[in-house]
Amino acid sequence: MIPYGRQSINQEDIDAVIGALKGDFLTTGPLVDAFELALEKIVGAPTIAVSSGTAALHCAYAAIGIKPGDEIITPPLTFIATQATAALMGAKIVFADILQDTGNIDPKAVEALVTSKTKAIVAVDYAGHPADMDELRVIANKHGIYLIEDAAHSIGSLYKGRPVGSLADLTTFSFFPTKNLTTGEGGAVASLDADLLDKARKFSRQGLIRDPSRFKLHGEGAWHQEVHQFGLNYRLPDILCALGLSQLKRIQEFKSKRSEIFAAYSEAFLSHKNIATPITRKNVYPMWHLYPIRVPSIIRKEIFVKMRESGIGVQVNYIPAYLHPVFDPAIYPKGLCPVAENFYKEEISLPIHFGLSKQDQEEVIRQLTSF
Ligand SMILES: *Cc1c(COP(=O)(O)O)cnc(C)c1O
Repeated sequence: MIPYGRQSINQEDIDAVIGALKGDFLTTGPLVDAFELALEKIVGAPTIAVSSGTAALHCAYAAIGIKPGDEIITPPLTFIATQATAALMGAKIVFADILQDTGNIDPKAVEALVTSKTKAIVAVDYAGHPADMDELRVIANKHGIYLIEDAAHSIGSLYKGRPVGSLADLTTFSFFPTKNLTTGEGGAVASLDADLLDKARKFSRQGLIRDPSRFKLHGEGAWHQEVHQFGLNYRLPDILCALGLSQLKRIQEFKSKRSEIFAAYSEAFLSHKNIATPITRKNVYPMWHLYPIRVPSIIRKEIFVKMRESGIGVQVNYIPAYLHPVFDPAIYPKGLCPVAENFYKEEISLPIHFGLSKQDQEEVIRQLTSF
């Protein structure tokens, strides 16, 4: 089976992990700082490394102080993690429909849904294509609410010359093996706002405060550290930071390869009236995580099944999040976001990853164009 996404691990990655295993620190050591600094160079803002993309979202939501009754506005075309931790914190999840062309949250739909309870807009860079961050920023500033970017798909993408990571108040990344680069499990939070990033960091490290100038208890001794707000253990160990550091060295190679595959597919499907290919906005240079095509909904399942039968590991990203049974259909009925529902009915993700050979790409094209 040709997988739709897969990690690329080379000898240097393996050596880096072995090096970390032989070091003094398996976790909380110097490789964490080194990985965070290397990430900052790519994403254009200081970062903290955490244990998953889900953890990163939880830390971002904790940093802005989400509490029961707050509302967050999110797109339905995403993995459920975008909503899950906010919902667990008691937030009300509000869904704004997507744009037909990019699959990203529609700023006009967002604007119409802002209330006095809205705490944040959470954009998702679907497939790696950045959301309309400037338009969303205007709305966020106008209403005095936060802008968060779930960039699980889009590390390495550029928006109007600026890297994803430097656009929102807080940006979250995932390093799951199918994503653009991997640490096995892992994630990160980026922010240009030192206070927000500090809050995210504390939340990810048990809420521990080690700086004596911030202590509320005095005269304890050199061992003392204290907690003002509860946190969790979302640390990323040195072993995995070593892998991340090594992977980051190849990020431009990863991006070029994904761009090449994107171009090869887009050219091959140009004249096929049943296949709509993804678009790229002007001024945007995505790191493509997915290659989402759309086909007429009546033949989508048939194509999906036949592709899988011929050894091509196609995927569908995503069922609109509010259709998961965890959401009450009385509050989130079918038809809530019609653009996202249609998108879902037509969508198939084709294999795209660093190790996908020319031959495999041709096989994907041959199978798909034979319908
Ligand atoms: C993968 C993903 C996440 C969660 O990341 P994990 O590292 O798997 O926890 C969140 N949001 C989106 C859009 C994702 O694709």
